[in-house]
Amino acid sequence: MADLQALRADIEGIRIEDNEKIVQQKSRDFYWYSPVLKERLEAVTGDLVVSPKTEAELIRVLKACYRHGVPVTPRGTGTGNYGQAMPLSGGVVLSLADMNEIREIAPGRAVVGPGVICSDLDKAARFESGQEMRMHPSTAHTATVGGFIAGGSGGVGSTRWGGLRDFGNVIRLRVVTMEEEPRALELTGEDLHKVTHAYGTNGIITEVELPLTAAYDWVDVIVAFDDFMEAATYANALGRQDGILLKLNTVVAAPAPFDYFKRHQKFLKEGENTVICMVAPQSLDAFLAFTRREGGRIAFNRSELAEEDLRGLPVAYELAWNHTTLRGLRVDPAITYLQVLYPFPDQLALVSKLHEMFEGEVIDHLEFVRFDGDITCFGLPMVRYSTEERLDEIIETFNREGAPIFNPHRYTLEEGGMKQTDEIQLAFKREADPRGLLNPGKMIAWENPDYDFDSGAVWLFKGLQKAG
Ligand code: FAD
Repeated sequence: MADLQALRADIEGIRIEDNEKIVQQKSRDFYWYSPVLKERLEAVTGDLVVSPKTEAELIRVLKACYRHGVPVTPRGTGTGNYGQAMPLSGGVVLSLADMNEIREIAPGRAVVGPGVICSDLDKAARFESGQEMRMHPSTAHTATVGGFIAGGSGGVGSTRWGGLRDFGNVIRLRVVTMEEEPRALELTGEDLHKVTHAYGTNGIITEVELPLTAAYDWVDVIVAFDDFMEAATYANALGRQDGILLKLNTVVAAPAPFDYFKRHQKFLKEGENTVICMVAPQSLDAFLAFTRREGGRIAFNRSELAEEDLRGLPVAYELAWNHTTLRGLRVDPAITYLQVLYPFPDQLALVSKLHEMFEGEVIDHLEFVRFDGDITCFGLPMVRYSTEERLDEIIETFNREGAPIFNPHRYTLEEGGMKQTDEIQLAFKREADPRGLLNPGKMIAWENPDYDFDSGAVWLFKGLQKAG
C-alpha cells in the first residue's frame, strides 16, 4: 500500500481533491457507453485527484508519485468512452484541465497547454486569425486537446484531413516522463507516434503544437434518401468531389434520424436515411447542384432557416461521430455500438453486404474520411444489444468479411486497436515509465508480454481481478 500521506506532504501547495464522491466522479469517463465496460469498471476509483497548473508542478507530482510508487492516471475532462482515463490500480488521477493556457496562435499553427478545451482553441484562433483546428472530436465543447491526442483518433474535419495519427496533423508534443528525475522531451515527426493514442501510458503531454486551417461559417445541411445504399453511394461520391469543401460527411441509416434526432424531427420523414454535412459557404451552391443531380432531398439547410426555426437545435456535428450513439441511447438505452473500418476500395460493397446481413439488429452509421489519400468510410454502427456473446458474434462476422472492428468494449490499447503489440509505444514506455506507474492496465504488452492476441479471450487486468 503506497504512503499517500507522505505523497501529500511532498506535493504540498498543489491542488488536491480527496472527497470520496468527487474522486470517484473524476475517476470515471464515458465507459458506461458500453454495457460490457459498465459492468467491468463500475467499481474503479482513484485515491486522490491532483491538479497541477504548470509543468513545474506536474514534475513535482510525478517525481513524488515515482518515489512512493503511486500509480498516476492522466485525465483531460473524461469524455473518452473506453475507460481510458479510469485508474484501474487506484492512486492519483492527474487532472490536466488547469494547464489550459493558449500560448501562441500563428499562421497555420497553435501552441497550447494540454488542458485547453478544443472549442476554446477554435474560438481564440478564429478571433485572432480567422483559423480553426483541422479536426476535433464531436465533444469539442468539453474535451481537451491533450485528451484528444492521447485518447482520441479523429473526427469532425477528418473527411478533409484524415486522422490524428496521420503525418502532419500534430506538429510537436512536449512530454514529461515518469522517472526518478522526470525529463521533458520534445517529440516531432515519427516520434509523435510514441505517445499519440497511447492513453497516457508512457508520458504526460504538457504542451501541444498543432496545425490550424482557415475557419469558415460552416453550413449544416441534411440530405435525405429513401434507400440506405443510395445515401451511402451519394456520400461516397460527394467525398470524392475535390472542389467541394466539407468538414463532415456522415451517413445515418433509418430509423435513427427520425427516431433519435428529436430536435431535428420536424425536418425529417419517418424511414428516411440521412447524410449530414458541414459545407463551406463558398461550396454551398456546388454542393446543392451536386445533390440535385444525385437525387437527394435537402431536408435541412441551416443557411435558409430563420432564427426561430434554429432555436434549440444542436449543431450538425453533435449528430455525428459518437454523438449519434449518444442520441440513440437517450431514446433507447438498450443500444450500443461498434467501430469499423471499411477498407478502400471495396467500402461500398462491404457496407451493403453487412447492412443486409444485420438488418433490424444493426443500424448503420458511416463517417466518410480521407484515409491514406483515398476516400473511404469508418462505421460506428449502433447495435440493438442483447448479450455479450451476440455482440462478439457480430464482431466476428465483420472481421471475417474484411471490415475490421476496433472494439469499443475493451479498455486496453491493443484490444481496442489492432490486436497486436505496438512496439514503438512499448519501447517508449520502457524508457519513460520504467516502474509501470502510468495508467496501469491499459497496455497488455507491458503487463503480460507473452499474451496471445489470437486466443480469442478477453484480457483482464490483475488489478481488476482483485477488485472483482
Ligand atoms: P480524457 O477522456 O480525459 O482522456 C483520454 C485519454 O487520454 C485517457 O487515456 C487519459 O489518460 C489520456 N490523457 C488525457 N490527457 C493527457 C495528457 N495531457 N497526457 C497524456 N495522456 C493524457 N473521440 C474522437 O476521437 N472523435 C470523436 O468525434 C469523438 N466523439 C465523441 C462523442 C461522444 C458523445 C463521446 C462520449 C466521446 C467521443 N470521443 C470522440 C471520445 C473523446 O470525447 C475524445 O477522444 C476526447 O478528445 C477526449 O478528450 P478528454 O479531455 O475528455 O480526454
